[in-house]
Amino acid sequence: MQPFTYSSAHDPADATRLAAGDSGARYLAGGTTLVDLMKLDVEQPTRLIDINALPLADVSELPDGTVRIGAMVRNSDLAHNEIIRARYPVLSQALLAGASGQLRNMATTGGNLLQRTRCLYFRDTATPCNKRQPGSGCSAIDGYNRGHAILGTSAACIATHPSDMAVALVALGARIHILGPDGERVIPVSELHQLPENHPEIETTLEAGELITAVDIAPLHFAANSLYLKVRDRASFAFALASAAVALDVGDGIVRDARVALGGVATKPWRSHEAEQSLRGASPSVESFRAAAEVALAGARPHRDNGYKVELARRTLVRALTRLQQSREHARP
Ligand code: SF4
Repeated sequence: MQPFTYSSAHDPADATRLAAGDSGARYLAGGTTLVDLMKLDVEQPTRLIDINALPLADVSELPDGTVRIGAMVRNSDLAHNEIIRARYPVLSQALLAGASGQLRNMATTGGNLLQRTRCLYFRDTATPCNKRQPGSGCSAIDGYNRGHAILGTSAACIATHPSDMAVALVALGARIHILGPDGERVIPVSELHQLPENHPEIETTLEAGELITAVDIAPLHFAANSLYLKVRDRASFAFALASAAVALDVGDGIVRDARVALGGVATKPWRSHEAEQSLRGASPSVESFRAAAEVALAGARPHRDNGYKVELARRTLVRALTRLQQSREHARP
């Protein structure tokens, strides 16, 4: 591990001031990714700014019904929050599908959004990796790539984005508040993560020193009819091989509106507007769900060991939509 300085911030402006002008500065929240990667020498910050004392740990409701989630809200607290459970079950379920109980107690909303890939070559400093060391090559493309992405890949990187929570937030159209040296800005969460293209080392649109302070979820009238389904190698403490975050607005025998996002198969949390469009106006049937899944995976580009993910992701999406529709039908009086 490399030497670094440590300081603690007491308000968001104080944190960004401490980070200003130091490209080696990193914010320390739950530490569930950063500390691991420091031990592996993958992350080598020169300065750690502890943000655990920042007053950003509340979930609140704004006058227009928007739910504001502070960046320091722990994953466990968010998953069990009554507003989230009632209005956005897909988010609660995605959080509870992630990691382990101990990790969820530490991991934060902001940190979850910024967690880094689990590509084994990224975490092994003895192997080439364009994301860790730009220009060194990608060991996964011709290596062991069973867990890697099939959507949004490039010739430089095929690493999967690991977050469950972010998949649900993308489906819900959440927006994030970002504080930096030049003030605050707000962007859709779908614009936070970048495709790898030629620069997989640049993972987000955050500028140096910028801090995520909150996530907003605007009212979505059918969000209570939503579900997250995760398929993985074991029932707990495992990353998704494929996952689906779905919400359906069904009435008069047709799908009036839909939200669809995929996890475990793409280089960023992957909203499929094409699948949503395919569902609108269709009957809520296995046939239309299958058609949406075909559309969602139309651009899939598998590699040697992960071809199975194409059909797995299709089936995961079909099962998620089917379960959601069945639960709605069973709930009807
Ligand atoms: Fe590195 Fe990306 Fe290749 Fe993994 S897939 S070795 S993270 S460049």
